[in-house]
Amino acid sequence: MNKMTAPTPRPGILDIQPYQGGRSKLDGVAHAAKLSSNEGALGASPRARAAYAAVAGDLHRYPDGACEELRAAIGKRYGLDPARIVCGCGSDELIGLLVHAYAGPGDEVLYSQYGFAMYPIYAKGNGAVPVKAPETDFTTDVDAVLASVTEKTRMAFIANPNNPTGTLLPAAEMKRLRDGLRPDIVLVIDAAYAEFVTRNDYSPGTELVDAGENTVMTRTFSKIYGLGGLRVGWCYAPAAIADVLNRTRSPFNVSAAAQAAAAAALADMEFFDLCLAHNAMWRPWLTEQMRALGLGVTESNGNFILVHFPKGDTAAAQAALAEEEVIVRPVAGYGLPDALRISIGTEDEMKRVVSALAAYREAKG
Ligand SMILES: *Cc1c(COP(=O)(O)O)cnc(C)c1O
Repeated sequence: MNKMTAPTPRPGILDIQPYQGGRSKLDGVAHAAKLSSNEGALGASPRARAAYAAVAGDLHRYPDGACEELRAAIGKRYGLDPARIVCGCGSDELIGLLVHAYAGPGDEVLYSQYGFAMYPIYAKGNGAVPVKAPETDFTTDVDAVLASVTEKTRMAFIANPNNPTGTLLPAAEMKRLRDGLRPDIVLVIDAAYAEFVTRNDYSPGTELVDAGENTVMTRTFSKIYGLGGLRVGWCYAPAAIADVLNRTRSPFNVSAAAQAAAAAALADMEFFDLCLAHNAMWRPWLTEQMRALGLGVTESNGNFILVHFPKGDTAAAQAALAEEEVIVRPVAGYGLPDALRISIGTEDEMKRVVSALAAYREAKG
C-alpha cells in the first residue's frame, strides 16, 4: 500500500505568518472602544448607510462587474481618468493582484522596515522573497530602499503615509525613489491614509502614476470613509497595469452594496469634512497628552498614533487601557515590541485613553 502523502502547498505559503488584525473584543466587556484598526472615529456617512440599505431589495442581482458608476464618481472626486481606475475587494485585494501579476518564485519584493504587513504576506504567497529596507526615524529611507535593489527586484511597496508608524515621504522624496528605481520595477504607493494628510509637501502619487508605465497608487474606503466592513478599495494605474488587473481580478469582486455605499460616501462631502476636522483636532491633542505623560509619539499623518513605551511596558499599558475598556494595537509583529498603535476615536474614547495611561504612569511611580 502506498504511504499517504498530504497535499503540499506551493513554496512560500507555509512561511506566511497570518495577518493579525486589531482585536475587537475585551473579555467580559460588551462594547469596548476599538482603537485597534484605524476604522474612523465617526463611523460611516449616513448617506452611505442609506445607500447600503437601499440595495437590500436586489440582493439576488449580481453587481456591476466593472464598477462603472463608482469609478466615474472616484474619477470625478479626485480628478482621475476612470478608465485607469480599478476597484477591488479592499485595497488589500489589489495589492495581492499586483504581486500575483508582477512577482513570482525567486523574485524580490521590496518594502520598508516597518511597512504594512500585507506586502510580505502576498510576496510569500506568490513564492517571491520579501526584502526589507531599514528605516531612519521610523520613516522610509529612500537611499536605503534604493540600496536594497538587486537584479531580482520586481516591485517596491511604500505605504505613504505608512501604517503603523504614521510617517510619510514628501512628494519630492517619492519622486527621487521612482527616479532611482529601474523602470521595470513596479512601484506601488499605498495611500490608504492620504485623505488625513495636512502637510503641503505631500502627494498621494497620482503625478508619478501619470508620468510613466510603472507606478500604481492604491486607495481605500476603509479609513476616512469608514467602510472597512464592506471591503472597497481602488487603484489608479497606467493603462497596461489596469488591463492586467482587469484580466486577473474576479469578475464581481466588489459587491453591489459596497459599490452603492462607497459612491454615496464620496458624495457626502459634509461628513467627509467632519471626519477630517475631527482627526485634525484629536490627533494633535492625543499626541500632546501622551507626550505630557512622558511617552514618545511618532509624529503621525494618519488617523492613529504610534506611542512608544519604556522597554517591556506595553503589557502594563494595555492592562490599564483595558480597565477603561479600550483596545489598542500591539505592533510587536512589526518589530516594535515597545510601542502601541492607537486609532483616533471619539472625544470620550480619547479621554479614556489619556486617563488609562495616566493611571499606568502613576502606578509606575
Ligand atoms: C488599512 C490599510 C490597507 C487596507 O485597506 P483595505 O482597503 O481595507 O483592504 C492598505 N494599506 C494600509 C497601509 C492600510 O493601513
